[in-house]
Amino acid sequence: MRKIYDFHGGIHPPENKHQSVGEPIEAAGIPQQLIIPLSQHIGAPAASVVTVGERVLKGQQIAEAKGFVSVPQHAPTSGVISAIENRVIAHPSGFSAPCIVIDTDGLDQWIDHSGQPDFESVEPSELIKLIRSAGIAGMGGAGFPTAVKLTVKAATKIETLILNGTECEPYITADDVLMRERAEQIIRGATILRHILSPGETVIGVEDNKPEAIAALRAAAEGTGVDIVSFPTKYPSGGEKQLIEILTDKQVPSGGLPSDIGVVCQNIGTAVAIANAVDKGEPLISRITTVTGDAVDKPRNFDVLLGTPMAFLLDKAAYQAGKNNRLIMGGPMMGFSTPRVDVPIVKTTNCILAPTESELPTPPPAQACIRCGMCADACPASLLPQQLFWFSQGKEHEKLEEHKLFDCIECGACSWVCPSHIPLVQYYRSAKADILKARSDNEKSEQSRARFEAREERLVQLAAEREAKRAARKKAAEERAKKAAAGDGEDPIQAAIERAKAKKAAQESS
Ligand code: SF4
Ligand code: SF4
Repeated sequence: MRKIYDFHGGIHPPENKHQSVGEPIEAAGIPQQLIIPLSQHIGAPAASVVTVGERVLKGQQIAEAKGFVSVPQHAPTSGVISAIENRVIAHPSGFSAPCIVIDTDGLDQWIDHSGQPDFESVEPSELIKLIRSAGIAGMGGAGFPTAVKLTVKAATKIETLILNGTECEPYITADDVLMRERAEQIIRGATILRHILSPGETVIGVEDNKPEAIAALRAAAEGTGVDIVSFPTKYPSGGEKQLIEILTDKQVPSGGLPSDIGVVCQNIGTAVAIANAVDKGEPLISRITTVTGDAVDKPRNFDVLLGTPMAFLLDKAAYQAGKNNRLIMGGPMMGFSTPRVDVPIVKTTNCILAPTESELPTPPPAQACIRCGMCADACPASLLPQQLFWFSQGKEHEKLEEHKLFDCIECGACSWVCPSHIPLVQYYRSAKADILKARSDNEKSEQSRARFEAREERLVQLAAEREAKRAARKKAAEERAKKAAAGDGEDPIQAAIERAKAKKAAQESS
């Protein structure tokens, strides 16, 4: 039996997962319009390669990756490009971003495609290229491009490949049902990843509140050497750093990467996307999304095309708008409220939560901090949330960085335990955004200062060159004058006067 470890802090909020696992995964179908944001991942947005009016096929690339940390986007079904414009997207600030809009034709007509099912004969670097061109970005959280995560330094030996099947956030069951229903594909994805990384061991970590998923994975993993490990349920065990600590007792250094300690971690949904891309040549164009909460009459998990408007999915789940107090994209701990129902489902949308007021009451007004220290006890990153709160209020960026604000995984455990109902995590999100903006502003002003200094240097250099030429001419003139005075050459000044006189006389006589 593998030894299991624990991480600091953590909480046990009500799970509320049973509501959405009663039914099998349901295909959501094809909405009339799909809205594909050019950025559904961390890194540079993709750039459109289609034009308005163009017909596209299912799986066709419609936007190309721009730079190393980027992924392309593909058409989730066939149809006609009806617009390339800014649309409101799923984001805490509810802002708009460039999107490709497809009016679907209902034919669901695929582009020609094929995979590399004999992947063991393919070079790992080629498989990484294939994963990149399939548009795969982490489906468990932030949406980091998978190919970038798999490109580890040549000198780095990966000891442990972890597939994250933890899904610790309340209400969300998208990964649970995926493990129950598509365990073979997950194991297939794990073996492809194992071929790419050659790790010492391959482990799938699952919390013990998912016995059906664990049983399905164990059956599918039989004889493959992939180890299915379960451990006690605690939020946020699904955080990458926390899961690594649970399974290996190793801690990712502050500001470092899992590969620094010989670990690579991928979500199980990402493993399925990799299996589809490698075996069948299918890009990432759909995902499993949970729709749940007491304001929907048919809570369940949907297999949904990327770009599907949230309203379409809510309709499938028999949404009762009158009962709902707010719509949350994601779960109650790490999700964010979205004021509009036309925002599209993207690669990272694991849940739409439609609670009633009695189910998830609006938080009461925040009161003053009573310095109880409960937030520090709960923090899985061993931070000091109370101090971070003060520094965030005072916009003390240096202090925030000293206190490792960027190690905060925004799990919300501190806010959840706070008896003063202070929305701590919201302060940290906003402080991080401020710091990142200040860094980018600094970088820009550094660049313009460097440009100004280079120009000044050039001007000084030009002036010095001009002065050197003038000094050389003066010296030459003095040499000639000296020679003339010595009688071994003409007097240059007298010669110039004679030349001027001759020129004037010529002008007068003409
Ligand atoms: S839990 Fe809330 S009240 Fe207690 S120390 Fe932290 S911020 Fe202050
Ligand atoms: S939100 Fe950040 S500070 Fe709060 S408990 Fe989670 S990791 Fe710690």
